[in-house]
Amino acid sequence: MLVFDHPEFDHHQQVVFGSDEASGLRAIIAIHDTHRGPALGGLRIFPYASEADALTDVLRLSRGMTYKSALADLPLGGGKAVIIADPRRDKRPELLRAMGRLIDSLSGHYITAEDSGSSEADMQIIAERTDHVGGLGHNGRSGDPSPFTAHGVFCALKSAVRHGLGRDDLGELRVAIQGVGHVGAHLARQLHEAGAQLVLTDVDRDALGRLADELDAEVSAPESIADAEVDVFAPCAMGAALTPAVVERLKARVVCGAANNQLAEPDVARLLRERGILYTPDYVANAGGVIEIAWQRREDYRREDVMAHIEGIGATLDEIFRRAEREGLSPAQVADDLARERFRAG
Ligand code: NAD
Repeated sequence: MLVFDHPEFDHHQQVVFGSDEASGLRAIIAIHDTHRGPALGGLRIFPYASEADALTDVLRLSRGMTYKSALADLPLGGGKAVIIADPRRDKRPELLRAMGRLIDSLSGHYITAEDSGSSEADMQIIAERTDHVGGLGHNGRSGDPSPFTAHGVFCALKSAVRHGLGRDDLGELRVAIQGVGHVGAHLARQLHEAGAQLVLTDVDRDALGRLADELDAEVSAPESIADAEVDVFAPCAMGAALTPAVVERLKARVVCGAANNQLAEPDVARLLRERGILYTPDYVANAGGVIEIAWQRREDYRREDVMAHIEGIGATLDEIFRRAEREGLSPAQVADDLARERFRAG
């Protein structure tokens, strides 16, 4: 398997393949960069079709974490771990303990946390074998990062609306939310409270119906959400929501959501700009969860300080949007440049 020539390889500092015969563990940990601090990033458990697919994912995701932590001003680098397994079938305690041992062998250079396929309960089991686990909660509070992520997206959205629409308040603003799961539902409630009018969609019709009733929101079919007559489109479901075809259809003038890797391809950032749509770089907007996890590692955790740090996402985006306008670049390009300036100087 080729790592150094891999298209997603970006001078990652360490790529560790781990296996354990007894539990059947097959895992990869990628540490992209530790200039700012230890590499923090979630553990994804997924039945990858091949080892090559798992490697592609872990290289891409770990690099993304470096950028996210740098722009969230955290003393952390970027890393990620994947286990090649079906989380519904294969997630046994022995497998997770073996993963804990593998993480521990890296002596704290990599710190794990929840990601898709892994839960807070899984983190508790991993923590039996290693101290290098985030996302366990604080003072008996749940480790679920999604309310913090949603608050960060809310702050990001306010900044984007200010820059893209010249508006300071969210009253009567029309927002379409694609995906009302953990983050999307919290975001919807916060926007509703601020007076926004919502158009919601989800493939889970029951959850969608309940939330729409609660918030007096309109409902759209999943395949029509890009056509909604709204001011803001908030992708909060899966990655690659913004394809060239979707961008052509958007009525919104601002895109700001929680989903990771929203741009189906890098060039979509240019297409958005050409259509006059302000794109909020996803990893800047959705950093609230990782900010909270980083604070859990501190002795002086205070909820007010965590929230103030998360609210700083708005100021970071103000800087990105201003620089993008000044330099005639897409906000995605400016965010990447700014992140590189920060972690290379770190
Ligand atoms: P989730 O699984 O709880 O919610 C996703 C929702 O999207 C689900 O309700 C699902 O039914 C729906 N969905 C899936 N495909 C859809 C489609 N085609 N159209 C409409 N809805 C669809 O996940 P989450 O934790 O809310 O995370 C949402 C996104 O934000 C993900 O991309 C995740 O990677 C990203 N993110 C989450 C966090 C966090 O703190 N949870 C942090 C950073 C980034």
